Amino acid sequence: MKIIDAHMHLSHIQEFKATAAEKSFVDYSLDGILKEYRDNNVVLGIGMGLTETKPGGFPDEEAVTPMGLDLVEALPPQLVYCLGINPYRLGTQELEALERDLQKPEAVGLKIYLGYYPFYAYDSVYQPVYELAAAYRVPVVFHTGDTYSERGLLKYSHPLTIDEVAVTHRNVNFMMAHFGDPWVLDGAEVVYKNRNVFADLSGLMVGDTANCNRLKDSPLFFAHLRHAVTYCDHYDKLLFGTDWPLAPVEAYIRFVRELIPAEHHEDVFYRTALNVFPKIRPFLEHEGHALR
Ligand SMILES: [Zn+2]
Repeated sequence: MKIIDAHMHLSHIQEFKATAAEKSFVDYSLDGILKEYRDNNVVLGIGMGLTETKPGGFPDEEAVTPMGLDLVEALPPQLVYCLGINPYRLGTQELEALERDLQKPEAVGLKIYLGYYPFYAYDSVYQPVYELAAAYRVPVVFHTGDTYSERGLLKYSHPLTIDEVAVTHRNVNFMMAHFGDPWVLDGAEVVYKNRNVFADLSGLMVGDTANCNRLKDSPLFFAHLRHAVTYCDHYDKLLFGTDWPLAPVEAYIRFVRELIPAEHHEDVFYRTALNVFPKIRPFLEHEGHALR
C-alpha cells in the first residue's frame, strides 16, 4: 500500500532535535526521513513550515512569515510543505511574500499554530490568510489539541474553535491536526458537521518503537480516540500523518493500521490527502504513482 504522510517536520527546532535524540531515536535529517519513507512505502511527505530565531524559541514571535522547512536547502520530490504563519508577522510585506510562495508548486497548504500563538482561528488577524487559501485553492492546517510546549495556551487550540471558521469560509478546506487530541470527540463533531473540515491522525503519541507499541496496546490510552473515530464515521475525512520526528514512521503506521478498519486504509493512508491537498497530485504523477 502506498502511503502519504500528511504531517511531518524538517526544521531547525530545538524541541524536535531533543525529541529525536532522547525519545523517538530517529535520525532527524533529510537522509533519515527519506530512508524511513523508502522502507515503508511512503511516497510523499507534507512538511509543516516552522522556524525559530533562537534555540527553544518556538512559538517564536520573531519568526518571519512564511515559515518553511529550514533543515534542508532544497526539497526532494518526496517532500512538499505548508507555509507556516506567524500572526505577529502578517503585515503587507509578509502577505505579499506568502502570496509569492503560494505560487511555488511545492507549497501545498498553509499552517496556523493555534495554542502556540495566542489567537483564535476566527480572529481577524487570520482573515487575509483564509482569503489567500481560497484564491490559491490550498487548505489551511490548524494545530489543535495539546501543545508540545508548556508555553502554549490550550483554550486557543480546542477543536470547537474551528467550527466558526469552517462555517464562515465554506470555500476553504481545513485540516485539524491531531484531531484535537485529547478533545477528539469534539474534533469528531466538528469534522462530522462541516463538509470542509478534515483531520489528521498525527502526533497522537511520542517516543520510540517500544513506547509506541506500549501505548498502542494499552487498553485505555486510546479509548477516547477509538470512540471519536467511530462516532465521526467519516473515514474519508481522516488523514494519516506521523508528526515525525516525534515517532518513527514504521511504528506510527502500525498504530494507525490497527486504529482504522482495513476497508478504509486506502482513504486514510492515501486518497483523502489527494482531495485535501490538490497541489500534491503532480508530484505523485511525476513519481509514476497511479491516481484515482
Ligand atoms: Zn506537527
